[in-house]
Amino acid sequence: MATATTPKRPAAPKVPDQKNFINGQFVPSASGKTFAAINPATGKEICQVAASDAADIDQAVKAARRALDNPDWKRMDAPNRGLLMNRLADLVEQNAEELAVLESLNSGKLIGDAQGDVQGVVNTLRYYAGWADKIEGRTVPVRGNFLSYTLRQPVGVVGQIIPWNFPLLMLAWKWGPALACGNTIVMKPAEQTPITAMKMAALVQEAGFPDGVINLVNGLGETAGAALVAHPDVNKIAFTGHYETAKLIQKSAADTLKRCTFELGGKSPNVIFADCDLEAAVEGAFHAIYFHGGQCCTAGSRLFVEDKIRGEFVERLAAKAKDRKLGDPLDDATQQGPQVSQEQLDKILGYIKLGEQEGAKLVAGGARFGDQGYYVTPTIFDNVKDDMAIARDEIFGPVVSVLAFNDLDEVVARANSTYYGLAAAIWTQNLDKAHAYAREVKAGTVWVNCYHVVDTTTPFGGFKMSGQGRENGEAVLDHYTELKTVTIKLNK
Ligand code: ADP
Repeated sequence: MATATTPKRPAAPKVPDQKNFINGQFVPSASGKTFAAINPATGKEICQVAASDAADIDQAVKAARRALDNPDWKRMDAPNRGLLMNRLADLVEQNAEELAVLESLNSGKLIGDAQGDVQGVVNTLRYYAGWADKIEGRTVPVRGNFLSYTLRQPVGVVGQIIPWNFPLLMLAWKWGPALACGNTIVMKPAEQTPITAMKMAALVQEAGFPDGVINLVNGLGETAGAALVAHPDVNKIAFTGHYETAKLIQKSAADTLKRCTFELGGKSPNVIFADCDLEAAVEGAFHAIYFHGGQCCTAGSRLFVEDKIRGEFVERLAAKAKDRKLGDPLDDATQQGPQVSQEQLDKILGYIKLGEQEGAKLVAGGARFGDQGYYVTPTIFDNVKDDMAIARDEIFGPVVSVLAFNDLDEVVARANSTYYGLAAAIWTQNLDKAHAYAREVKAGTVWVNCYHVVDTTTPFGGFKMSGQGRENGEAVLDHYTELKTVTIKLNK
């Protein structure tokens, strides 16, 4: 296992302190308080960030409300709204390298993955720009001599709260449909990863969005996030994060009967049958768990392997894990960067200890890597039982639990025996098995002979405690529009 590779690109830029973006202006928090943004590869401070609370949220919501009624936005022709979104996408493309470097610096994401995410932002904005002038109502064949038609109108001011694992991509998934439908936005980025969101704010200004259409308020979840959820003039909350936070949000949103959509975690079953293409399945299972250090809500963290190939499969997986290069995420040669924070590092190491105590067999990794930054070696547990904590809980780190199985019905039942339902995968050459699994498994996304294939064009979200509603594709547009029926009496 190697590290301490020397980055080939220029040193990471000096990052100025980050403010809020409210009504088209960069402003400090009302209280003047700040907190530190940390580089997870070193544990050192990058810059200070505005620590906002209810007063800042109120300013941003007022700006968003004014923007909603501003004719420059409200009356903007739908094709022009699409053009404006495309202008933002063009600016993201022109600033791609800077955005990717900042994303990698702040989140610990590999630079190549960050570049992929920036392209994902461009794709998402362009996809929803295309929707802006295709959001149509219907004429309805109503009883009696009436003309009835429906209008799809913006929900209003939408509050959006995002996590730290895909800061830019989550921002785009939420901005795209909200803007296409003509809403205005108050977003709270994750406190761990505020930097690229603020760079996006600068691009919003440059693209020429009317003031207040997009507002960004930095701060902690319990203060800024909670205030956004509680604000009576916010019409909808779109949240991505932990289900425990979603429960708090749903309770708080009940007071104002806000609509909520949630994209939450997972403990996704990745099922390997003996009749798979073994080489591809080993690669796929490795990518399923270790992509972005396991910090993915879709991570393939429950690896069900048909017992007759389990020995060889685990051996091949372990060989790859032991060969993985950990190091500076800004170095193109690095294969795994740091976890995002000390808190996550501690949590992951805690689960590894628990796995050993519960009697699972540690076959690779299982330790912190290096003495600076928040690195964890790629970890494999074999002989895992379904009721162990490492098989039940979302660890959000590079830790996979290998579970043995013997037939399809058994593995479907065990795959579904979780309160999560975000993603699932199956590796087999047998179409019958693949279709049966796809039909029976309770998950919002099912992959056959592939993993982590997520595109802005296809619906994404969870069953059970993995979420409510869908993001991406056409499905999300319902969440960002109100449906209005207009009925006119006809005299002839
Ligand atoms: P994670 O485990 O990914 O950090 P969280 O659910 O804690 O998941 O955080 C996701 C986002 O939710 C972050 O932007 C965080 O600040 C925000 N958040 C945390 N607690 C609350 C809360 N009580 N109300 C609103 N937002 C919150």
